[in-house]
Amino acid sequence: MGMPSVLIIEDDEDGRRAVAKLFARADWKVFEAADGDSGVELALRNRPEVILCDLLMPKSNGFQVCRTIRQQLQPTKIIVVSGRDYAVDRASALEAGADEFLLKPITWEVLRESIDRLLTPIPERPRATTSPEELGSVPPRIKLWGVRGSLPVPGPTTIRYGGNTSCVEVRADGELIVLDAGTGIRALGLALEKELGPGTIKLTLLITHTHWDHIQGLPFFPPAYNSKNLIRILGYEGARAGLGAILAGQMETPFFPVSLHELPSHLAIEELKDMELHIGTVKVQAKFANHPGICVGYRLFTSAGSIAYMPDNEPYEPLKMQLAAQDGIDGNEARNFAGAERAKMVEFLRDCEVAILDAQYTDEEYKKHMGWGHSSLSSVVELALDANVKRVLLFHHDPSHDDDMIDRMVEQARELVRKSGKAMVIEGAREGAEILLELPAQRQLR
Ligand SMILES: [Zn+2]
Ligand SMILES: [Zn+2]
Repeated sequence: MGMPSVLIIEDDEDGRRAVAKLFARADWKVFEAADGDSGVELALRNRPEVILCDLLMPKSNGFQVCRTIRQQLQPTKIIVVSGRDYAVDRASALEAGADEFLLKPITWEVLRESIDRLLTPIPERPRATTSPEELGSVPPRIKLWGVRGSLPVPGPTTIRYGGNTSCVEVRADGELIVLDAGTGIRALGLALEKELGPGTIKLTLLITHTHWDHIQGLPFFPPAYNSKNLIRILGYEGARAGLGAILAGQMETPFFPVSLHELPSHLAIEELKDMELHIGTVKVQAKFANHPGICVGYRLFTSAGSIAYMPDNEPYEPLKMQLAAQDGIDGNEARNFAGAERAKMVEFLRDCEVAILDAQYTDEEYKKHMGWGHSSLSSVVELALDANVKRVLLFHHDPSHDDDMIDRMVEQARELVRKSGKAMVIEGAREGAEILLELPAQRQLR
């Protein structure tokens, strides 16, 4: 191998020259750039072994430079150098593609040590993140960590279906996506830590709404307490306050000893505005549910078909009755409006491989709980049949339903499907259950 080369991207001329001298003395070929844009240009033209990149620079900042270079030059090692030591900067730099984060002023000893480590191919360093190849090599899978609605109910009568509140893990196309942060998220966190060891846990948490049973596990999510982890939380603004404020609210001092802002992980809360977004290559569609306050369901479009998650949702029948009771609206108008709303829900679920749906009440119970924002068994079966869903998981079990009761509800639901003559699969969502989706290629082989 010839002379190794390094590119130093740094807007401070004195600092850049000083580092350049260190490398030149050690027989490195040195390129220098005074801003992010010319740095990227030089990097692509000369393909150096190592790039040293400042964080705060004019034109493109260090994060942008890392991202751009990483997309085009995989083998190049990028060392971000910063004058400040924020855990967030460090995590963001690694997320953007940097291999190392060093603090200024840097000495040759520190540089030499990290370069040796980065350029030595064996033994391989523990991977910085759960790599897409690792997650993408297996077909998309769903794992249920919490299936209960309203309140956790552990105990001997809920041992088979589980007592933890809403939390579903989806791994698809290189992404780790978590749906809701009910109490089930605690066990998910412990499992991820065990699986990934010292590696970074990188995940996106999609919140449907901030009712307790969907967020109360978050303060007990172990990966949130480690600065190496990257956790993105996405959801919609509530009726009264933003998502961030509500999540922080449940961790204020009267309720919890550690505030949300004290959590050491790189935690980014983003309020969603659009009803369509992408997590990596997974397209995500959101739809407002018929549930008190602001509540959505999500549909994830994976390479092995769609997964829908609509944990809290009521049929539109009571809406029809309410409308019909209002002055100036006749029964026909009310029926048309409610019918149109239901049609949108059917469209949202259309042809899903798996739909995880609110089935909190039996039909009898529902009569007493109209307007509470949850579904009856027969209404959810009809909805899924109309939408041509392939497999339904009855979800958000009522805290008063024991295992035997849920068994009976599943049987009733299956009976309804049999009567319809369709082949839809129905199961009761069970804590710990794992569902593998088949990739299209595997499907054709059969
Ligand atoms: Zn709920
Ligand atoms: Zn709710």
